[in-house]
Amino acid sequence: MSFSDLGLAPELLQAIADQGYTEPTPVQAKAIPPILLGQDVMAAAQTGTGKTASFTLPMLQRLKEFANNSVSPARHQVRALILTPTRELAAQVQESVKIYGKHIALRSAVVYGGINIDPQIKELRAGVEILVATPGRLLDHLQQKTVILSQVQFLVLDEADRMLDMGFLPDIKRILAVLPAQRQSVMFSATYSDDIRGLAKQLLKNPVNIEVARRNSAVETVTHLVYHVESSAKRDLLTHLIRSRDMRQALVFCNTKIGANRLAYKLVKDGVAAAAIHSDRTQGERTQALAEFKEGRTQILVATDVAARGLDIEQLPFVINFDLPGAPEDYVHRIGRTGRAGLTGEAIALMADDEREKLGAIEKLLKIKLPIAEAEDFKRTPALRGEAGRREGREGRRPDGRRDQSRQSESRHREDHRSRSGRNSPARSVAQPADPLFDRPYNPPPSSKPSDSANSAPRQQDPKKQVAALFLPPVAEKQDS
Ligand code: AMP
Repeated sequence: MSFSDLGLAPELLQAIADQGYTEPTPVQAKAIPPILLGQDVMAAAQTGTGKTASFTLPMLQRLKEFANNSVSPARHQVRALILTPTRELAAQVQESVKIYGKHIALRSAVVYGGINIDPQIKELRAGVEILVATPGRLLDHLQQKTVILSQVQFLVLDEADRMLDMGFLPDIKRILAVLPAQRQSVMFSATYSDDIRGLAKQLLKNPVNIEVARRNSAVETVTHLVYHVESSAKRDLLTHLIRSRDMRQALVFCNTKIGANRLAYKLVKDGVAAAAIHSDRTQGERTQALAEFKEGRTQILVATDVAARGLDIEQLPFVINFDLPGAPEDYVHRIGRTGRAGLTGEAIALMADDEREKLGAIEKLLKIKLPIAEAEDFKRTPALRGEAGRREGREGRRPDGRRDQSRQSESRHREDHRSRSGRNSPARSVAQPADPLFDRPYNPPPSSKPSDSANSAPRQQDPKKQVAALFLPPVAEKQDS
């Protein structure tokens, strides 16, 4: 999908192109069309998802009819109000308004506390169409009658949950009381609480509900770790991590369907119960694969982004990015599968040298640096492959008989890599096995058909059962590559 598919005006498309954005983020794709149509929207989206543009762009388009270059303040009345919890966010949002609105003659101003009010008064007197404000300072202006909000027809509550956390509810209510009832309102919140629902009910009329990521902040409950590793060693490192960390359940992301198929197939060859899901599999097959994963019959689910959308797996402890995603937003979406409902989770990424740029984009989006562990000391050894590796995996024990405690700390984990390498023969390159799954069409095993399962014998409960990666020839639904 491109921005022009969303029905945005040429001036906005130009500003977007100037920014170098090539396609809308998920929240933009979902929020822009209904906002352009004048509908109220309740969006669950956190910072880093592109949420600011998702309300700013359609807001600018809806206010375009008021664009003018007159010097008369009467021609520049406040038509849109954006409330934010903090000064930083207010300033950032106004910056976005200026960037996206640079080809449209609408004026904007930002008002927040902690600084001299006089320059703000001067700016408001000159007239602005778009006002970004923190609640407290806006109330000061209302009290001093230095702002008139009777012409507001577009209201945004950005980071509404944070505003409530900061005790702004009474201020917000006071502000709402002076706004015209006839208006369009949109609300953004990273989390849903009863208070947020209550506020939304009061504020929004028949809202379109949008959710793009998980409800609780991904960054807070998820521990990130990036392994720097050669592309060719990724799979062996993955198998090693699955075993040494005793991962009973992990969702592994690949960027392509073929990559997902191949990885699942090879994991199975390594003795790991794995299956692949992607958009070439029918809904029934995906549901089945997911059910087996949830039951623990499949240990590792290898997925593409499209197939993983909407997956709701409770208490998933690990999400592994076998490939770093092309769009940094997809990282947030992927890791949103773990650390849900306040539980902690781990997001592990395997990064090859040529993926450094992708990591940079992810860090920029998350506004954090992700810890990097060098995996260069990890070598492909026979112990990680074939029978020896399989035996170790089943028993969850190290060759010396002790339980692997490497999850306790990264340094111990890395020592474990070394001691393994030391114990075993030196690294050798292993020829890739032929992959018959790619040479013949997919034949679903009888047990993978939902209609069969009701009549079949009781399922084997062995969590380490080998599950073949499923492969289908491409069908119409070409969503992931
Ligand atoms: P936000 O969630 O609004 O704080 O935006 C996070 C970052 O994503 C900002 O640095 C934006 O400039 C950037 N951004 C917003 N929309 C897009 C897009 N469609 N493509 C690439 N980057 C974007």
